[in-house]
Parts: sequence; C-alpha cells; structure tokens
Amino acid sequence: MSNSFCRYLSNGYSFVLKSDDTLTVKPCCWFAQEIPVDSALQNNRKKLFESITDWSPACNKCFLLEKSGQQSLRQTGPDWVPDAESSQDPVTIDIHLDNQCNAACVICNQDNSSLWAKEQSKLQHKKITIKPETPTAAIDKIVSTVSLEKVKYVKFFGGEPLFTNTHLQFLEQVPCPEHVTLHYTTNGSIYPNEEVLNVWKKFKLIIFAASIDGIEEQFDYVRWPLTWNKVSKNLLRIRHNKNIQNLIFRIEFTANFLNAYYFDRLESWVQDNLSANAYGDKTDLNIHLYFGNIWNLNKMPAEIRNLIFKKYSKDHRIYKIVSNSTVADLGNWKNFVATWDTRRNNSWKTAFPDLIDYIQTK
Ligand code: SF4
Repeated sequence: MSNSFCRYLSNGYSFVLKSDDTLTVKPCCWFAQEIPVDSALQNNRKKLFESITDWSPACNKCFLLEKSGQQSLRQTGPDWVPDAESSQDPVTIDIHLDNQCNAACVICNQDNSSLWAKEQSKLQHKKITIKPETPTAAIDKIVSTVSLEKVKYVKFFGGEPLFTNTHLQFLEQVPCPEHVTLHYTTNGSIYPNEEVLNVWKKFKLIIFAASIDGIEEQFDYVRWPLTWNKVSKNLLRIRHNKNIQNLIFRIEFTANFLNAYYFDRLESWVQDNLSANAYGDKTDLNIHLYFGNIWNLNKMPAEIRNLIFKKYSKDHRIYKIVSNSTVADLGNWKNFVATWDTRRNNSWKTAFPDLIDYIQTK
C-alpha cells in the first residue's frame, strides 16, 4: 500500500543535482530532507520517508498551505499514486538537474538561476566561471538506480527547463510516454521548438505551468530581465497553435509582500486572455507563498494588509493568505532593493506605485 499520509513519501522521487555533482533525492520538491542516490537508496527511503505517518517538520510547506486554505502538494498525491501501489518505485518524478536560466527573478537565487549566479559574480568582482553541466551522467544514474516502468508524472524544474535539452535527454528514457503527464515549471519566455513539439506529441498531457507574478510593471520588476510584453505574447502564441493538442496551461503566482495587492490584475488578464487552451480546457491560476526571507509575505506592513482587506472580499484567496500572515520587519529587503534596483536600472516604486507611502526605506 502507498503511504496513507502522503503518497509522495512512498512513490515520489524529486531528483536534484547539487553544485558539487552529488545527485540527491527526496519525496517531493518541498520536502526538507534529501538523501544521496546510491546503493542504500531504498533502505534510506524506507527509514526516513516512508515511516512518516503524520505532519513532520520536513513537510512544513504543505502544512502551511493547508492551514491557509490553499491546496498543498500532499493533497495531489492520490491523483497519481494509487492507494494499492505496493512497490517503492517512482510514480511521480521531479527533475532538477541544472540551473541554466535566462532570468534572474527577484524571488530566485544563484542556486536556481545561472543568470543570478553571473549577476552575483559581477557584484563581487569575481571571475564568472561557467561550470560545465553534467546532467547526462545524472540521468544515467537515475535510470540505473530506479525503474521508470510505473512513472505517470514527470515535472521539470530548472533553471528554465526549455532553455536546455536536459528535459529531452530524460524523456528519451521514459517508457510508455502515452501514459505519462509532463509538467514544466517555466518562466514562459521560450517558445517550444519543433523538436520539443514533436516529443510532446508522444506524451499523454503537457502541463505548461508558467510562473507569472503579476502583469506589466509588476511582472517586469519581479521577473527581470524578462518582459511582460514578450512573455504574454509567447503564452498566447502557444495558446493559438492548434497543432499543440495535448497542452493545458497553469499560471503560478508566487505571493510576496508587494505583489499580493496586485493579484487582481493578473486574475483579470487570465480571465480575458488565457482562461482555457484552444480546446477549452480550463487554465488553473494557483497562488503560492514565497518561502524565502527577503520578499516574505510576513513583511507586509499593516497598512498594506488593510488595503488588501478593503480591495478583496473575505472569501478571496489573497484575503485568506494575507490574514494568515504575521507582521515582521523589512530587514534585508531594504539592502536588496538598494543594491539590485540600482544595478538593474529598476525600481520597486515604479512596479508597486500604490504601496510607496506604506514602505519605510530609511
Ligand atoms: S512536503 Fe508535502 S508533498 Fe512533500 S512529502 Fe511532505 S506532505 Fe508530502
């Protein structure tokens, strides 16, 4: 039987290739503990993951989401892993094998974006070293350690997964693609080329989950140096290509203490432009919490919370998320904008003009 508390604990495999070339695995991308992929893998999984039967500190992200009334990853487990699954084999897989990315979003970092790593090197006057990526060896290791026969769902993280061929290299190894759903966590800036479109045709379903943290000025600020103009056109180009028949859209909004106020602008844009794919399948608009330090929702000043309570009804998701946050100091956010807004010729004040009066930068 699969794990009854969370199916990912028994049949979820989230692979991460670390900067020191160690390949690790955990049940899902949110779980806070990882183990190396080696000959002791299945024993360690049993001991550290499968033995969990209730909320554990390692599952805090799901706990917080469920507490604020949002859907957690845990709640999606039964969509993929049957109750009767008796093996430890992967049914869901996350792939995080390189950090190559064409964006350096303010809410991201150098571990997850090669452009962020370059920007940090420039700031520190360090030589920019481009480390040759080794996803091929990692893919070989995955394939030789676990069976992919039962896989039903593969999720790609980056960097930006469509910026490299890593995803295609992995997909070559997946048996029975017609039973497998692919999920791309993408910044939405890259149109899939012919090779990608041909590979996608073999799979059951493509979930194109674009990370969009606002529109226009809010997008351009948070998702630097991408532009809303380019990304919105790209999404609509995919939407209107009737040859892409097995793709559904998701929009993933990561709420921070400034963009939350503007969520309604994105909601209207999705409603007017991307409420469904070309065949009528509905687009989900999901809200996530930002879990890092700098942009945490808990930094929201009380005045902005009150503005949000006036703007959104009590049953709106943004209202619920904000009412569950606590109030903390702006702390290192001030240093962040002082450094990066200047270097990027960007301004949080232009992006979030309605909130300027409520932020003390001194
Ligand atoms: S973090 Fe969530 S999805 Fe991951 S193992 Fe824990 S409860 Fe399951």
